[in-house]
Amino acid sequence: MSEYRDMIINKLESVQEPGRNPIRMPIRREKELKIITLGTGAPVPDVARAGPSNAILYKRTCILVDCGRWASMRIIEAGINFNQIEGLIFTHLHQDHINAWPTIWMDSIFTRRTKSWKIWGPVGTKEVINAIKIFNQNDIEDRMTAGINIEGLETEVHEIEKGFSWEIGGIKITCALTSHIPTMPCFSFRFDTPEKSILLSGDTTKNENLIQLAKLKPVDVLVHEVILDDVIRFAISNQFLLGNDSTADFIINSHTTIPQLIDILNEIKPKKLVLTHIVPTISSPEYIERTVKNYFNGEVVCANDLDVF
Ligand SMILES: [Zn+2]
Ligand SMILES: [Zn+2]
Repeated sequence: MSEYRDMIINKLESVQEPGRNPIRMPIRREKELKIITLGTGAPVPDVARAGPSNAILYKRTCILVDCGRWASMRIIEAGINFNQIEGLIFTHLHQDHINAWPTIWMDSIFTRRTKSWKIWGPVGTKEVINAIKIFNQNDIEDRMTAGINIEGLETEVHEIEKGFSWEIGGIKITCALTSHIPTMPCFSFRFDTPEKSILLSGDTTKNENLIQLAKLKPVDVLVHEVILDDVIRFAISNQFLLGNDSTADFIINSHTTIPQLIDILNEIKPKKLVLTHIVPTISSPEYIERTVKNYFNGEVVCANDLDVF
């Protein structure tokens, strides 16, 4: 029995690589402000791209922005300790941006998170968080009966409005209301430290509020969504995607096309453009990068899951 026990202990001690032993995960530290694109996908499942999700890191502080499909696994793959996540922000409440929350929340137990979840999002966020409590109620009661600590399940929800600004771990966060009709409200966020600024568009078509948010201070990294309108129309008319011509109009009008993106770049002039939430996800990154580079002097990258900028 003691031989078996020693073998198990040795095994647990030796499993240090990210993703195998989240309880013993070291704290990931970044000297300067970084964004990890945890998931670069969109609503249609694509095994190459997890749902939309990002981690903002500065020193030992991590903030999650959106948590789409598979985000909990991507957090662990990125070597982020659940206890270093100081906040979760929802850009909006479309399911592709929030549907990993039930898993992330319950994984707080299994990763031994010991602090409450501070969550910021648009009006309706409290209702979503409460609904997931009901969804998991039976399981939580069983864990409590088994004597498992559930302090990592506490939540504190803040519903934000346009222009809202706050600070977490030395990162100043400012939001702007954007345009992702009919889903409202929907926000873009900028993250500032004294040395670096990152702006994340969220889901939006071209919107003046985002441009004004960008002009508060030069942007080092603009992380923006993009839609390929001609690919969407082709995919829908050939039944690779559901819907009809008006579906195509509806989708295209609530996202940012490449010509709109180029207008935005001309106004914001970021040092680097990172494209994520590319709709549809099967679009060619090389084609998008080449097209945008014809009109923009800065660096252009179509992000993959777990890239760091
Ligand atoms: Zn989306
Ligand atoms: Zn959306």
